[in-house]
Amino acid sequence: MEKRNDEAASAYLPSFVIRAAFVIRHSSFVILIMSVLVVGSIAIDTVKTPVEEHSDLLGGSASYAALAASFFSPVRLVGVVGSDFPKSEFDFWRSRKIDTEGVQRVNGKTFRWSGEYSWDLNTRRTRSIDLNVFKEFKPELPETYRQTDFVLLANIEPSLQAHVLEQMKRPRFVVADTMDLWIETARSDLDELLRRVELLILNDSEAREMTKETSLIKAGRRIQKMGPAHVAIKKGEHGALLFGEGDRFFSCGAYPLEDIHDPTGAGDTFAGGMAGYLAGTVKKVHFNDLRKAMIYGSVLASFCVEAFSLERLRNLSLKEITKRYETFKLMSQFEVPPE
Ligand code: AMP
Repeated sequence: MEKRNDEAASAYLPSFVIRAAFVIRHSSFVILIMSVLVVGSIAIDTVKTPVEEHSDLLGGSASYAALAASFFSPVRLVGVVGSDFPKSEFDFWRSRKIDTEGVQRVNGKTFRWSGEYSWDLNTRRTRSIDLNVFKEFKPELPETYRQTDFVLLANIEPSLQAHVLEQMKRPRFVVADTMDLWIETARSDLDELLRRVELLILNDSEAREMTKETSLIKAGRRIQKMGPAHVAIKKGEHGALLFGEGDRFFSCGAYPLEDIHDPTGAGDTFAGGMAGYLAGTVKKVHFNDLRKAMIYGSVLASFCVEAFSLERLRNLSLKEITKRYETFKLMSQFEVPPE
């Protein structure tokens, strides 16, 4: 963050970024507070849309989430890769303050996933999945990771997400992402995990499947009763809903994009943006912080889908994030002075 936060750029940056860069440089204790631990899949993807197909792309829930979070806070990454995984990626991660001590490199092939989108770019079919080194994966946290206040359990099997939590010394705020596969095949592990999570992020169809409610409002409230005090329900191009304690509720739209090239990883990026923003800016999370975090998550996700794999996120600047955040703010106001 220091490198990218030069003086010229700081004119465009929100105060939290300037503050964050300052504390990173001046106090190692504060760095500890601000880090976010991210665990999830690190994958090599093949993605087909109706107009393009690309193979051997960097993917995986943790790859997207970690890079998104790294715009706001240092990241401690946990995952597994095989011997075929490019070493250059580790150099890139380190250049973005993503600690890779928790990434195991083992003999064998990296997890591979292939998906195909239909014309609406909303519906996706998994073409193939090769677990490879993921089959034997048991996340082991380095000692230096165990005391991290903010945790993002990006999408992987709920029992692995729980295994990470078991090794941690009382994290203050746990965010979890999940998917339909785990709702269908690992429901009791997922239910157990929910009791230890402060914020659950899932998409609309998953929320309905999980609760058997057609109304997303009822679904959100019902999921809160299962454990998480806060629930974020993503609705793709229609935005997202946020449920908080009591009757706290927030709804936001999605950034209107003309060109979507690859929707892969948008959900992971949304979660990474939210968790990273919270870790980098607040000590005790209030509903107001979550509202802003959801906008930053949406902003990051809107950039993610502009190119295949992580290419847009790799080239993204804080200035661009801030500009889109400000546009989002203007778009969301309905009481404006007459023109
Ligand atoms: P998303 O588009 O947010 O659902 O995330 C897509 C990413 O999830 C891809 O890069 C895949 O490599 C990864 N992925 C797909 N299936 C799984 C799975 N079962 N467990 C973990 N990660 C997965």
